[in-house]
Amino acid sequence: MKITDIYKEKNAQHQSVISLEIFPPKTNVGVETIYKTVAGLTKKPDFISVTYGAMGSFGRENKTLEIAEKIKKDDGIETMHHLTSINNNPEQITEILADIKAKNVKNILALRGDVPANACRADFPDVYHYAHELIADIKKAGDFDIGAAIYPEGHVDSPFERENIDHVKAKHDAGANFFVSQLFFDNDKFLRLNDAVKNAAIEVPIAAGIMPVLQKSQAERMIFFGASLPTRLIKIINKYKDSPEDLQKAGMAYACQQIDELLSQGVDGVHIYTMNKPFVANGIMAKYL
Ligand code: FAD
Repeated sequence: MKITDIYKEKNAQHQSVISLEIFPPKTNVGVETIYKTVAGLTKKPDFISVTYGAMGSFGRENKTLEIAEKIKKDDGIETMHHLTSINNNPEQITEILADIKAKNVKNILALRGDVPANACRADFPDVYHYAHELIADIKKAGDFDIGAAIYPEGHVDSPFERENIDHVKAKHDAGANFFVSQLFFDNDKFLRLNDAVKNAAIEVPIAAGIMPVLQKSQAERMIFFGASLPTRLIKIINKYKDSPEDLQKAGMAYACQQIDELLSQGVDGVHIYTMNKPFVANGIMAKYL
Protein backbone atom coordinates (compact mmCIF):
# COMPACT_ATOMS: atom_id res chain seq x y z
CA MET A 1 0.00 0.00 0.00
CA LYS A 2 1.21 3.49 -0.72
CA ILE A 3 1.86 5.70 2.30
CA THR A 4 -0.16 8.48 0.68
CA ASP A 5 -3.19 6.17 0.80
CA ILE A 6 -2.57 5.42 4.49
CA TYR A 7 -2.60 9.18 5.13
CA LYS A 8 -5.76 9.62 3.07
CA GLU A 9 -7.57 6.88 4.99
CA LYS A 10 -6.52 7.91 8.50
CA ASN A 11 -6.63 11.68 8.07
CA ALA A 12 -10.16 11.38 6.58
CA GLN A 13 -11.17 9.85 9.94
CA HIS A 14 -9.36 12.68 11.77
CA GLN A 15 -6.65 10.31 12.93
CA SER A 16 -2.91 10.91 12.70
CA VAL A 17 -0.63 8.38 11.03
CA ILE A 18 1.85 6.86 13.51
CA SER A 19 5.08 5.52 12.04
CA LEU A 20 8.36 4.18 13.39
CA GLU A 21 11.88 4.60 12.06
CA ILE A 22 14.59 1.96 12.47
CA PHE A 23 18.13 1.65 11.12
CA PRO A 24 19.87 -1.50 9.80
CA PRO A 25 21.92 -2.91 12.70
CA LYS A 26 25.58 -3.78 12.15
CA THR A 27 25.21 -7.39 13.25
CA ASN A 28 22.91 -10.26 12.32
CA VAL A 29 21.96 -10.56 15.99
CA GLY A 30 20.86 -6.92 15.87
CA VAL A 31 18.78 -7.61 12.76
CA GLU A 32 17.11 -10.57 14.49
CA THR A 33 16.30 -8.33 17.49
CA ILE A 34 14.55 -5.93 15.11
CA TYR A 35 12.47 -8.75 13.64
CA LYS A 36 11.54 -10.06 17.10
CA THR A 37 10.61 -6.60 18.35
CA VAL A 38 8.43 -5.85 15.34
CA ALA A 39 6.75 -9.27 15.46
CA GLY A 40 6.09 -8.76 19.18
CA LEU A 41 4.41 -5.36 18.87
CA THR A 42 0.89 -5.82 20.19
CA LYS A 43 -0.22 -2.70 18.35
CA LYS A 44 1.21 -2.18 14.90
CA PRO A 45 2.39 1.15 13.51
CA ASP A 46 0.91 2.46 10.26
CA PHE A 47 4.29 1.98 8.61
CA ILE A 48 7.95 1.43 9.44
CA SER A 49 10.74 3.25 7.67
CA VAL A 50 14.25 1.83 7.33
CA THR A 51 17.21 4.20 7.00
CA TYR A 52 19.87 3.92 4.35
CA GLY A 53 23.54 4.80 4.63
CA ALA A 54 22.88 7.22 7.50
CA MET A 55 25.80 8.68 9.44
CA GLY A 56 28.45 7.24 7.20
CA SER A 57 27.32 3.66 7.36
CA PHE A 58 27.62 3.23 3.59
CA GLY A 59 27.99 -0.44 2.73
CA ARG A 60 25.12 -1.60 4.89
CA GLU A 61 22.61 -0.41 2.33
CA ASN A 62 21.64 -3.90 1.22
CA LYS A 63 20.19 -4.54 4.70
CA THR A 64 17.75 -1.65 4.22
CA LEU A 65 15.92 -3.49 1.48
CA GLU A 66 16.20 -6.88 3.19
CA ILE A 67 14.61 -5.48 6.38
CA ALA A 68 11.94 -3.43 4.57
CA GLU A 69 10.93 -6.47 2.49
CA LYS A 70 10.82 -8.92 5.42
CA ILE A 71 8.79 -6.70 7.75
CA LYS A 72 6.25 -6.07 5.01
CA LYS A 73 6.01 -9.75 4.08
CA ASP A 74 6.15 -11.35 7.53
CA ASP A 75 4.41 -8.76 9.72
CA GLY A 76 2.03 -7.21 7.21
CA ILE A 77 3.26 -3.73 8.12
CA GLU A 78 3.82 -1.30 5.26
CA THR A 79 7.46 -0.20 4.94
CA MET A 80 9.40 2.72 3.50
CA HIS A 81 12.96 2.41 2.13
CA HIS A 82 15.17 5.50 2.66
CA LEU A 83 17.44 6.22 -0.30
CA THR A 84 20.25 8.78 -0.60
CA SER A 85 21.64 10.27 -3.79
CA ILE A 86 25.02 11.48 -2.55
CA ASN A 87 26.59 8.03 -2.82
CA ASN A 88 24.87 6.98 -6.05
CA ASN A 89 24.83 8.02 -9.70
CA PRO A 90 21.68 7.77 -11.88
CA GLU A 91 22.65 4.32 -13.23
CA GLN A 92 23.06 3.00 -9.70
CA ILE A 93 19.77 4.60 -8.67
CA THR A 94 18.05 2.85 -11.60
CA GLU A 95 19.44 -0.50 -10.43
CA ILE A 96 18.48 0.11 -6.80
CA LEU A 97 14.95 1.10 -7.81
CA ALA A 98 14.63 -2.11 -9.85
CA ASP A 99 15.71 -4.11 -6.77
CA ILE A 100 13.26 -2.25 -4.52
CA LYS A 101 10.45 -2.83 -7.00
CA ALA A 102 11.33 -6.53 -7.30
CA LYS A 103 10.95 -6.88 -3.52
CA ASN A 104 7.51 -5.26 -3.61
CA VAL A 105 8.48 -2.24 -1.46
CA LYS A 106 6.39 0.68 -2.67
CA ASN A 107 7.52 3.68 -0.63
CA ILE A 108 10.79 5.59 -0.72
CA LEU A 109 12.05 8.49 1.39
CA ALA A 110 14.27 10.33 -1.08
CA LEU A 111 17.21 12.16 0.50
CA ARG A 112 20.44 13.81 -0.52
CA GLY A 113 22.40 12.25 2.37
CA ASP A 114 25.63 13.56 3.87
CA VAL A 115 29.32 12.96 3.30
CA PRO A 116 30.49 10.89 6.29
CA ALA A 117 32.86 12.68 8.70
CA ASN A 118 35.81 10.50 7.64
CA ALA A 119 35.27 10.90 3.88
CA CYS A 120 35.57 13.67 1.36
CA ARG A 121 32.98 14.93 -1.16
CA ALA A 122 35.33 14.26 -4.10
CA ASP A 123 35.10 10.51 -3.38
CA PHE A 124 31.40 10.52 -4.25
CA PRO A 125 29.61 10.86 -7.60
CA ASP A 126 29.00 14.51 -8.47
CA VAL A 127 25.69 14.07 -10.26
CA TYR A 128 22.86 14.72 -7.84
CA HIS A 129 23.27 17.91 -5.82
CA TYR A 130 19.88 18.19 -4.13
CA ALA A 131 17.20 15.74 -3.09
CA HIS A 132 14.68 17.16 -5.58
CA GLU A 133 16.84 15.80 -8.46
CA LEU A 134 16.66 12.29 -6.98
CA ILE A 135 12.93 12.71 -6.40
CA ALA A 136 12.45 13.59 -10.09
CA ASP A 137 14.31 10.43 -11.17
CA ILE A 138 12.32 8.21 -8.78
CA LYS A 139 9.11 9.76 -10.10
CA LYS A 140 10.18 9.00 -13.67
CA ALA A 141 10.57 5.35 -12.67
CA GLY A 142 6.86 5.52 -11.95
CA ASP A 143 6.40 2.75 -9.41
CA PHE A 144 6.84 4.46 -6.06
CA ASP A 145 5.20 6.71 -3.53
CA ILE A 146 7.84 9.31 -2.64
CA GLY A 147 8.49 11.11 0.65
CA ALA A 148 11.08 13.79 1.43
CA ALA A 149 12.72 15.41 4.45
CA ILE A 150 11.68 18.73 5.96
CA TYR A 151 13.37 20.75 8.72
CA PRO A 152 11.41 22.59 11.48
CA GLU A 153 14.53 24.59 12.45
CA GLY A 154 16.08 24.83 9.01
CA HIS A 155 18.69 22.44 7.60
CA VAL A 156 22.03 22.48 9.47
CA ASP A 157 23.87 23.81 6.40
CA SER A 158 21.43 26.69 6.08
CA PRO A 159 22.19 30.05 7.72
CA PHE A 160 18.48 30.48 8.53
CA GLU A 161 16.56 29.10 11.51
CA ARG A 162 13.55 28.35 9.35
CA GLU A 163 13.05 25.90 6.51
CA ASN A 164 13.30 27.42 3.03
CA ILE A 165 9.80 26.91 1.62
CA ASP A 166 11.14 27.24 -1.96
CA HIS A 167 13.23 24.12 -1.32
CA VAL A 168 10.17 22.32 0.06
CA LYS A 169 8.24 23.37 -3.03
CA ALA A 170 11.03 22.12 -5.32
CA LYS A 171 10.77 18.67 -3.69
CA HIS A 172 6.99 18.72 -3.93
CA ASP A 173 7.01 19.84 -7.58
CA ALA A 174 9.56 17.12 -8.40
CA GLY A 175 7.17 14.46 -7.06
CA ALA A 176 7.28 14.25 -3.25
CA ASN A 177 3.84 13.19 -2.02
CA PHE A 178 4.51 13.58 1.71
CA PHE A 179 7.15 14.93 4.10
CA VAL A 180 8.79 13.61 7.26
CA SER A 181 10.35 16.14 9.60
CA GLN A 182 13.72 16.25 11.24
CA LEU A 183 13.46 15.61 14.98
CA PHE A 184 12.65 18.58 17.20
CA PHE A 185 11.94 19.18 20.89
CA ASP A 186 9.89 22.35 20.62
CA ASN A 187 6.47 21.72 19.05
CA ASP A 188 6.00 25.37 18.11
CA LYS A 189 8.86 25.05 15.62
CA PHE A 190 7.11 22.18 13.85
CA LEU A 191 3.63 23.71 13.98
CA ARG A 192 4.95 26.97 12.50
CA LEU A 193 6.57 25.07 9.62
CA ASN A 194 3.42 22.99 9.12
CA ASP A 195 1.41 26.20 8.71
CA ALA A 196 3.99 27.78 6.40
CA VAL A 197 3.95 24.77 4.07
CA LYS A 198 0.13 24.61 3.94
CA ASN A 199 -0.04 28.40 3.43
CA ALA A 200 2.25 27.97 0.42
CA ALA A 201 -0.46 25.69 -1.06
CA ILE A 202 1.69 22.59 -0.66
CA GLU A 203 -1.17 20.30 0.30
CA VAL A 204 0.59 17.08 1.24
CA PRO A 205 0.86 15.27 4.60
CA ILE A 206 3.71 16.21 6.93
CA ALA A 207 4.82 13.92 9.75
CA ALA A 208 6.36 15.34 12.91
CA GLY A 209 9.66 13.63 13.81
CA ILE A 210 9.94 12.76 17.50
CA MET A 211 12.96 11.24 19.22
CA PRO A 212 12.77 10.51 22.95
CA VAL A 213 15.89 11.69 24.81
CA LEU A 214 17.30 8.69 26.68
CA GLN A 215 20.83 9.89 27.46
CA LYS A 216 22.58 13.23 27.99
CA SER A 217 25.16 12.49 25.27
CA GLN A 218 22.37 11.67 22.81
CA ALA A 219 20.68 15.03 23.45
CA GLU A 220 24.00 16.81 22.91
CA ARG A 221 24.45 15.02 19.56
CA MET A 222 20.99 16.12 18.44
CA ILE A 223 22.19 19.72 18.43
CA PHE A 224 24.28 18.74 15.37
CA PHE A 225 21.05 17.78 13.60
CA GLY A 226 19.89 21.35 14.12
CA ALA A 227 17.45 20.57 16.98
CA SER A 228 17.48 23.17 19.75
CA LEU A 229 16.98 22.04 23.35
CA PRO A 230 14.25 23.95 25.22
CA THR A 231 15.17 25.04 28.78
CA ARG A 232 12.58 22.65 30.22
CA LEU A 233 14.27 19.69 28.54
CA ILE A 234 17.76 20.84 29.57
CA LYS A 235 16.55 20.97 33.20
CA ILE A 236 15.17 17.43 32.93
CA ILE A 237 18.45 16.17 31.46
CA ASN A 238 20.50 17.87 34.20
CA LYS A 239 18.22 16.62 36.94
CA TYR A 240 18.52 12.97 35.88
CA LYS A 241 21.97 12.95 34.25
CA ASP A 242 23.42 10.60 36.90
CA SER A 243 20.44 8.28 36.94
CA PRO A 244 20.10 6.62 33.50
CA GLU A 245 16.85 4.83 34.30
CA ASP A 246 15.13 7.97 35.55
CA LEU A 247 16.41 9.94 32.55
CA GLN A 248 14.93 7.33 30.19
CA LYS A 249 11.58 7.56 31.94
CA ALA A 250 11.64 11.35 31.94
CA GLY A 251 12.77 11.43 28.27
CA MET A 252 9.93 9.11 27.24
CA ALA A 253 7.47 11.24 29.25
CA TYR A 254 8.72 14.42 27.51
CA ALA A 255 8.33 12.76 24.07
CA CYS A 256 4.81 11.59 24.99
CA GLN A 257 3.86 15.14 26.05
CA GLN A 258 5.12 16.37 22.68
CA ILE A 259 3.06 13.70 20.89
CA ASP A 260 -0.06 14.43 22.99
CA GLU A 261 0.08 18.09 22.00
CA LEU A 262 0.77 17.36 18.33
CA LEU A 263 -2.14 14.91 18.16
CA SER A 264 -4.43 17.42 19.82
CA GLN A 265 -3.37 19.93 17.14
CA GLY A 266 -4.45 17.40 14.48
CA VAL A 267 -1.07 16.88 12.79
CA ASP A 268 -1.10 14.59 9.75
CA GLY A 269 1.37 12.16 11.27
CA VAL A 270 3.95 11.47 13.96
CA HIS A 271 7.15 9.65 13.02
CA ILE A 272 9.07 8.12 15.94
CA TYR A 273 12.84 7.78 15.75
CA THR A 274 13.11 4.55 17.77
CA MET A 275 16.93 4.34 17.73
CA ASN A 276 16.25 0.57 17.49
CA LYS A 277 15.24 0.54 21.18
CA PRO A 278 12.48 -2.03 21.64
CA PHE A 279 11.08 -0.18 24.66
CA VAL A 280 10.71 3.03 22.62
CA ALA A 281 8.76 1.20 19.89
CA ASN A 282 6.67 -0.73 22.41
CA GLY A 283 6.08 2.23 24.72
CA ILE A 284 4.88 4.53 21.97
CA MET A 285 2.77 1.95 20.17
CA ALA A 286 1.06 0.82 23.37
CA LYS A 287 0.08 4.40 24.19
CA TYR A 288 -0.89 5.75 20.78
CA LEU A 289 -2.48 3.03 18.64
P1 FAD B 1 18.23 18.56 0.28
O1 FAD B 1 16.79 18.82 0.24
O2 FAD B 1 18.94 18.42 -1.03
O3 FAD B 1 18.90 19.73 1.12
C1 FAD B 1 20.32 19.75 1.34
C2 FAD B 1 20.77 21.21 1.52
O4 FAD B 1 20.64 21.89 0.28
C3 FAD B 1 19.95 22.00 2.53
O5 FAD B 1 20.79 22.92 3.19
C4 FAD B 1 18.93 22.72 1.68
O6 FAD B 1 18.48 23.88 2.30
C5 FAD B 1 19.73 23.00 0.42
N1 FAD B 1 18.87 23.01 -0.78
C6 FAD B 1 17.86 22.15 -1.06
N2 FAD B 1 17.33 22.45 -2.26
C7 FAD B 1 18.04 23.49 -2.75
C8 FAD B 1 17.99 24.25 -3.93
N3 FAD B 1 17.07 23.98 -4.88
N4 FAD B 1 18.89 25.25 -4.10
C9 FAD B 1 19.81 25.54 -3.15
N5 FAD B 1 19.90 24.86 -1.98
C10 FAD B 1 19.04 23.85 -1.79
N6 FAD B 1 20.48 10.58 5.82
C11 FAD B 1 20.96 9.38 5.42
O7 FAD B 1 22.12 9.30 5.02
N7 FAD B 1 20.18 8.26 5.45
C12 FAD B 1 18.90 8.27 5.89
O8 FAD B 1 18.23 7.24 5.91
C13 FAD B 1 18.35 9.52 6.33
N8 FAD B 1 17.07 9.60 6.76
C14 FAD B 1 16.56 10.82 7.09
C15 FAD B 1 15.20 10.91 7.46
C16 FAD B 1 14.65 12.13 7.80
C17 FAD B 1 13.19 12.20 8.18
C18 FAD B 1 15.46 13.31 7.78
C19 FAD B 1 14.87 14.64 8.16
C20 FAD B 1 16.80 13.23 7.43
C21 FAD B 1 17.36 12.00 7.06
N9 FAD B 1 18.70 11.88 6.67
C22 FAD B 1 19.21 10.67 6.28
C23 FAD B 1 19.58 13.05 6.70
C24 FAD B 1 19.65 13.80 5.35
O9 FAD B 1 20.27 13.00 4.38
C25 FAD B 1 20.45 15.07 5.62
O10 FAD B 1 19.73 15.93 6.44
C26 FAD B 1 20.98 15.77 4.38
O11 FAD B 1 21.96 16.72 4.81
C27 FAD B 1 19.94 16.55 3.61
O12 FAD B 1 19.09 15.73 2.95
P2 FAD B 1 17.83 16.35 2.15
O13 FAD B 1 17.20 15.24 1.44
O14 FAD B 1 17.01 17.20 3.03
O15 FAD B 1 18.62 17.29 1.11
